[in-house]
Amino acid sequence: MIQRKIQSTKSDNLVDRINDFLASPPEGTPTEVLEAFSSLDSNQFLPPKLFYELVEQAPIAISITDPTARILYVNCAFETLTGYAREEVIGKNESVLSSKSTPESVYRELWETIHSNKVWQGTLVNHRKSQEEYLAELTISPVNNNKGQTAYFLGMHRDITEMHQLEQRLKFQKNLTEAALNAAPMVVAVVAADRKVLLDNHAYKALIGDFRGVEPASLFLEALEQQVGFDLSTVCQVGSGFTNVEIRLDPPGGAAPRWFACSGVHVPELDEAAHNYFKQAESTRCCLLLIANEVTGSRKRIQEARLNMIRANMAEQQMVQTMREAISGAIFKIQAPLNVIKAALSMPAAGQENMGMRIVLQQALKSGDEAMESLHEALPSPVVEKTSLVNINELLHEVVKLSTENLLSAGIVVDWRPAPVLAEVNGRINALRGLFKYLIDNAIQSLIEAKQDYREIRIQTKQDNQDLLIEVMDNGVGIPKAHRLKVFEPFYCGWEQPKEHAGMGLTMAQEVVIGHGGNVEIDANFYGGCRVFVRLPLNGMEETLL
Ligand code: FAD
Repeated sequence: MIQRKIQSTKSDNLVDRINDFLASPPEGTPTEVLEAFSSLDSNQFLPPKLFYELVEQAPIAISITDPTARILYVNCAFETLTGYAREEVIGKNESVLSSKSTPESVYRELWETIHSNKVWQGTLVNHRKSQEEYLAELTISPVNNNKGQTAYFLGMHRDITEMHQLEQRLKFQKNLTEAALNAAPMVVAVVAADRKVLLDNHAYKALIGDFRGVEPASLFLEALEQQVGFDLSTVCQVGSGFTNVEIRLDPPGGAAPRWFACSGVHVPELDEAAHNYFKQAESTRCCLLLIANEVTGSRKRIQEARLNMIRANMAEQQMVQTMREAISGAIFKIQAPLNVIKAALSMPAAGQENMGMRIVLQQALKSGDEAMESLHEALPSPVVEKTSLVNINELLHEVVKLSTENLLSAGIVVDWRPAPVLAEVNGRINALRGLFKYLIDNAIQSLIEAKQDYREIRIQTKQDNQDLLIEVMDNGVGIPKAHRLKVFEPFYCGWEQPKEHAGMGLTMAQEVVIGHGGNVEIDANFYGGCRVFVRLPLNGMEETLL
């Protein structure tokens, strides 16, 4: 049995009329029609009046047109937004809203889309009845009849003028900020917790070129980690940033080191996750706003003054060292005949005639011993030095600078390949400086003796876990395989022109390296010159002191 009455209120004219129709349907009305009207009251369908009211009261401007955009219906929001009463626009084309500022190409694209039975979405410049212009964000959807042809178009639009203004202001703010950042001489970058650079300025981009494409942020972060213990992953928890921390960067490719005074503040990262919308902002991930001021120039001036001081210091050290070498050499040389005399005296006396000789030998031994004693007394004591944290890159660079004159006069090219960031080693700075000076001086001497046209010294530093590896290579005369261990023995001198070389350089160098818990060796498989490897443990000094 078909339910013949749908529920209604008194004011529902349409529903009343349907109810009247259902109460006495005209003769021959198909049962399908009666069923369709009756089912409108069932739980599965809403009454048509309700649909009508939903559209009428929807808070978005809705219009229904025929296939030529002639308006058939508009809702209340349309009237409010456009300022037109429905009687004023029904029967007119939607173009009544066009302010003529929308390019024709947009309309063409709109019509091409809806004519191919697709939904069009876009923005048009409209004007209200008052001629005031506004931006309409419009969706047009074709409504098909049962033959699949477009019977109507449903248009829905809202005013996005304010949003557009906000967007424009935001763009302006962004442009302004970018212009200010780009005009600033300092390097500025915002680095996310995953080390991605979210924002940077011209000065930062210039560094990418200087650093041969290596991301400067990663070099800054590594240097900050190594040199001041800064950890990006904990910056959010720790909360504090850092100010004017001076760090050193060694650009890849061996260019001169650069110094930057860095400041950093943490900024909570954007949280765009939908599930966090109602949560209080308590981001655990932070970005780092990094501001770095290059101070290489002032560092250079300080460095120059330091170098002069080191030069004077080293000259003094050198003098002491030369004296030690000369006296040690003399002791070594005198010791040999004294040992022979001692051996001769220890033999039993053969007869009266040898007595005179024995007395002479005893006198010679006595004066020899006295001479040895005075030589030992004259031997300057080695300088005792405290340990400190030493940046080997910096030290090597300094030594190369100290040797500039010798390098230039011998026409030697230095291929300087430092690790971009190197941990500091706990060591005796003067001893280490002396060590590298020996190695570089040896390389220079070797190149001078080789008399080759192209003369090169390559210096390379690397970090291998807790060890630093330093390589000094030259394309000079090289060291014969048989002498690769011998060269570390005291007073071994293989130079063609020994001049002031006493053959103690590599002995001293080895002493220094061993004193730092490391080792030094000559590459046995290297031909066409010499390659010396030095391995220094980062905490080797502590260990050897314990
Ligand atoms: P017209 O000379 O009418 O048209 C400009 C160009 O649009 C033509 O050169 C042609 O390429 C194309 N075009 C226009 N009519 C047709 C057509 N019937 N078939 C194929 N191509 C055609 N416009 C607005 O400016 N603001 C609105 O809010 C807006 N709402 C719309 C809502 C609906 C549901 C529909 C169907 C259209 C709506 N339009 C709206 C588009 C409007 O009908 C006009 O096409 C447009 O305003 C341009 O009118 P015009 O008089 O400036 O130029």
